Amino acid sequence: MNTRFHNIRLLNDSLSPASLAIRDGRLAQEDPHGPSSVAFEDIDGAGKLVIPGFINTHTHLAMAAFRGLADDVPLSVWLNETIWPLEGRLTPEDVYWCTLLGIAEGIRSGTTAFVDMYFHLDEIARAVEESGVRALLSYGMIAPSLADRGRSELDITAAAIERWHESANGRIHVAVAPHAVYTCGEDVIRGAVELTHSYSVPLHIHVSETRSEVENWKAQTGKTPVSYLESLQAFSVPAVAAHCVHVSDDDIAILAERNVTVAHCPKSNAKLGSGIAPIPQLQNAGARVALGTDGAASNNRLDLLEEARAAWLLQRAHHEDASLISSDACISMAVDGGRVVFGLPEDGLSDGAPADLVFFDTTGLHTTPQHRSAAMLAYASQAGDVTDVYVDGKPLLKNGELLTIDEERVKSEVQRLLHRIKD
Ligand SMILES: [Zn+2]
Repeated sequence: MNTRFHNIRLLNDSLSPASLAIRDGRLAQEDPHGPSSVAFEDIDGAGKLVIPGFINTHTHLAMAAFRGLADDVPLSVWLNETIWPLEGRLTPEDVYWCTLLGIAEGIRSGTTAFVDMYFHLDEIARAVEESGVRALLSYGMIAPSLADRGRSELDITAAAIERWHESANGRIHVAVAPHAVYTCGEDVIRGAVELTHSYSVPLHIHVSETRSEVENWKAQTGKTPVSYLESLQAFSVPAVAAHCVHVSDDDIAILAERNVTVAHCPKSNAKLGSGIAPIPQLQNAGARVALGTDGAASNNRLDLLEEARAAWLLQRAHHEDASLISSDACISMAVDGGRVVFGLPEDGLSDGAPADLVFFDTTGLHTTPQHRSAAMLAYASQAGDVTDVYVDGKPLLKNGELLTIDEERVKSEVQRLLHRIKD
């Protein structure tokens, strides 16, 4: 399907109408009103702001099923007493439905690509393939040593890469994901790094999420998690480091030097009482910062616009400085920050880029009157303003209707399975 959009607004300071064209799934330079050698569907986008889709750089989509369980406890209690026991009862089919719930929520709030870490990857990949979104999937490995589960965890990861990397017309990529330094032995992390090199795929890991993680790690090894991972060459491939809340100046220098994508998850960190990541310091050092929701159980939404809002609100309140994280910087974290690990062109609206587009209605009371687009998005817009979403030029949401996911079926399947595993 080739489509041309007219009278739209883009993420720049201009309020004058613009046009965009999709040709064979990619953005194309077309004279919006001129004759063309191919047929286009022409769509009037008056009142719509169009952006390249948001990229959620750290999530566990299937955990949408655990939303609202164990809301008010710290990370260790939440994981050990509620989440891990329930996860042990999930079947592959359950993970498929829970992932679809997360994807649908993401599409409805303007996300076109997800960096996911979970298990039962075949079912997650099926959900991604059918729903039409873009995803960097990873199997979260947990193993004290190669001899104790580690070898089989690496084998599961290798099989997922062989089966799914660059599948679904290139929409699915696979990364290698040792869960964290404290859940994987050193030989397992070394094996994970070797795997990223042999398949040329990214690494995805939780890093320095809580103060106690960092203190324990320093007591055990004399190194911070970041410097320990650096010593194992974990950042020698494109890497996503989720959280990075408690990082030192030396850690920040390593993350910047190694071009690591820091997946900043401000709401999850705040909800679990983990702290506020030093985002201005990371950005000043030249580190790439992107946004993630983490799983819905610790958020409780999968909404990048909420995440963007939390990012600037927390920094400005914490530092008593209204100049921190401008609206442009904030929206750039949500839109551009995650592009590198997907191998996507830096500019999401450049000629030939995959047509991943999100349309926001700008005619609401809360977005009137209109000034700068980035400021409207960062400070006033909401998920409910998203009307249309395209990935690879294919519509996934049109006029507010999900086209690839049966929303009612997904909700009832997730309710049903949760009843079963909770009993
Ligand atoms: Zn996480």
